[in-house]
Amino acid sequence: MAGWVHRRRDHGGLIFLDLRDSRGLVQVVFHPESAPEAHGVAGGVRHEFVVAVTGEVSPRKDGTENPDLPTGEIEIIASKVEVLNEAKTPPFPINEETEVEELLRLKHRYLDLRRERMRKNLRIRDQATAFIRNFLHERDFIEVETPILTNSTPEGARDYLVPARQHPGTFYALPQSPQQYKQLLMVAGIERYFQIARCARDEDQRADRQPDFTQLDFEMAFADEEDVMSLTEELFSALAAHVRPDLKIISPFPRITFEEAMRRFGSDKPDLRYGLELYNLDDVAGSSEFGVFRSAIETGGTVEGICVPGGTEFSRKEIDSLTSFVQGLGAKGLVSIGLLGTPAALGEDDVRSPVAKYLSPELVETAAKRAGAKQGDLLLLVAGEGGKGKTEPGSSNRVKPALDGLRREIAVRLGLADDGILHYAFITEFPLVEWDEDVERWDALHHLFTAPMVEDMKYFESDPAMVRSRAYDVTCNGTEIGSGSVRIHERVVQERVLRLLGVSDDVAQRRFGHMLEAFEYGAPPHAGFAPGIDRLVAQLASEDDIREVIAFPKTKSGMEPLTGAPSVVEQEQLDVLGIKLVEQPEA
Ligand code: ASP
Repeated sequence: MAGWVHRRRDHGGLIFLDLRDSRGLVQVVFHPESAPEAHGVAGGVRHEFVVAVTGEVSPRKDGTENPDLPTGEIEIIASKVEVLNEAKTPPFPINEETEVEELLRLKHRYLDLRRERMRKNLRIRDQATAFIRNFLHERDFIEVETPILTNSTPEGARDYLVPARQHPGTFYALPQSPQQYKQLLMVAGIERYFQIARCARDEDQRADRQPDFTQLDFEMAFADEEDVMSLTEELFSALAAHVRPDLKIISPFPRITFEEAMRRFGSDKPDLRYGLELYNLDDVAGSSEFGVFRSAIETGGTVEGICVPGGTEFSRKEIDSLTSFVQGLGAKGLVSIGLLGTPAALGEDDVRSPVAKYLSPELVETAAKRAGAKQGDLLLLVAGEGGKGKTEPGSSNRVKPALDGLRREIAVRLGLADDGILHYAFITEFPLVEWDEDVERWDALHHLFTAPMVEDMKYFESDPAMVRSRAYDVTCNGTEIGSGSVRIHERVVQERVLRLLGVSDDVAQRRFGHMLEAFEYGAPPHAGFAPGIDRLVAQLASEDDIREVIAFPKTKSGMEPLTGAPSVVEQEQLDVLGIKLVEQPEA
């Protein structure tokens, strides 16, 4: 057997080595009498040396078995050992699951990947992609690769550009997604396409974002949202059962419209593992003596809240920390109302709130009723600007994002987010467009190839905000896993959408002329989806950060510490490309 020395123990003459290879560990024993030479060599090896051992597999002595190890019932009695390579002391322990600083881990990723957690994660990822490929092949999908050097795609992020040496002054873009190609493959008559596709978007990084990432990209001709969602549900359920049979999957996956998701959870990626649903108090808050509520309503804002079961147990300090928490999310403040009595018959002393004297019994009772509150529960209310906008930063609605964040925070504090559950859901009927204040025009909420809902076309010119799209997202435990939509497949409709988005006919022709033209050659109706593999696998591996399931990830600032990318290049390379730097970077 060959592998790495995971651990060495010297026990009164006997030497034990735990030998590790890509599949796991086995114990090797060296006896000083029966194999003196091997014993001598074993005495000199250290952690992470690479060795080859010859010996005999033998059952362990009674009482020395290790039930925690798959090979715990046997050991190898070594007759010979050869050191294939030595190893310096690693910068962090390989044989312990200790916390190690991220930069150090990434700089020595080849050592980090030796650790059990990472080996397990890479295996889960491999199992998942193999399963997905199989599943789709069995259903007549074919995998087609699309270019990595391509043209800018309108996925809404900044492009990574690659200078084209042979055409000075021009650039390729790395694909933000294979969106246009997969639609063109539908026009090409492929009918069922998929690809485990690498994509790149130049965006600010977060725990669930990387500059380059992987999507399961797929597209189906003669299909609608139902076909795509039911296939996805079948795939995700089978995948999770295959890779993590110990996790509970909630099925069927609920389908929630965007409007309902925002109303009930304040988010288009709600965590459905617990309740804590939002309720609205606009009707009663408008006539409240409490100035904050009244003025919010008078200025077109809103008052909404959630209810924390048993929350009257929270200390003053805990409530203060929740207040700072929502302020961090843009809310002005947090009103807490502890229900010390039965909500149906609240006496004066039954309401505990710093603003109790301004709160009418009607307001408290209505809130309690809408929240389904019981004695001992805590109502938490936020007042502020309204609007049905998205939860992203920049939206004018500060109440919903605050309550969405508060829901999640309280779920963590109360241990409500069960990590043994995968609660997938489809979010549907997104608005087609949203108003972009900065550039003063309509922006596609999904992307510009998404079909509008036919029944909403009557608002298309008069009130575009009312038009819903045929887009859908899949979410899991409060994270967006992927987006997709039924696509536009007719030139006239595509042109109408482009016009709505303020794209002039000229620009439309230049940037999307190939799509418009393709739609004129018998483009079938089609729909598709693109779940993120990194996020999907991270959840299957019970990891919070997608970096834990990517072999060579980048840091939050987009650096790859192992190779040092991105890096300064030779002047010659720039000269060939005809590129002059405005500022010299620091070496
Ligand atoms: N291309 C889209 C995206 O990457 C997904 C899709 O519509 O299929 O967001």
